[in-house]
Amino acid sequence: MNTGSLILISAPSGAGKTSLVKSVLDADTEIVVCISHTTRAMRDGERDGENYHFVEDAEFDRMIAAGAFLEYADVFGKRYGSSRQEVDRCRADGKDVILEIDWQGADQVREMLADAVSIFILPPSITELEKRLRGRGQDSADAIQTRLAEAKTDMAQAARYDYLLVNDDFERAQSELLSIIQSTRLRRERQLQGAEVTKLLQ
Ligand code: 5GP
Repeated sequence: MNTGSLILISAPSGAGKTSLVKSVLDADTEIVVCISHTTRAMRDGERDGENYHFVEDAEFDRMIAAGAFLEYADVFGKRYGSSRQEVDRCRADGKDVILEIDWQGADQVREMLADAVSIFILPPSITELEKRLRGRGQDSADAIQTRLAEAKTDMAQAARYDYLLVNDDFERAQSELLSIIQSTRLRRERQLQGAEVTKLLQ
């Protein structure tokens, strides 16, 4: 069976990760995103099983004890994890699978799966990030300062990633993200799984 690439995508809040990921899913049906589990509260407009699997702390603990997570982390006070079952299900049909996870989760997956490709999305500047966070109108002034401090903590980890992508211009960032993912399909290991190249090399 062909295995798609495992793509780890991290970004500070407000860098536009969710919109970029959604746009590459729309543009290329061979890419899927894996749904994580979280203990944080559901936000307006979110749906259980669509944005996240929303679970209680006790259920998250039970899943950790059962070894159900490929990776999990505490992200600014709430817990998030990618379940093995969900990741296996996503990978089963050979598509390229995106995990939208924080840097701690990305570290854990890299340790286990050396061929995972990691991408960090950066905002064009801290000033622009602040502008975007204010523009969303979701957070109080205090919460925005907290988010900016968190963003700086996250961005300090960017150098661990294979690719750094600056989301200055959305269209360009979308096409760059697609290019990175599509280029992983030409990797030797991927090509050698396919009949066409294997036949050429016989
Ligand atoms: P949010 O609550 O805004 O949706 O996400 C907050 C942070 O949690 C983001 O940095 C996001 O990438 C991260 N996150 C979401 N799902 C997972 C996951 O399954 N594992 C890890 N380690 N981080 C996650």
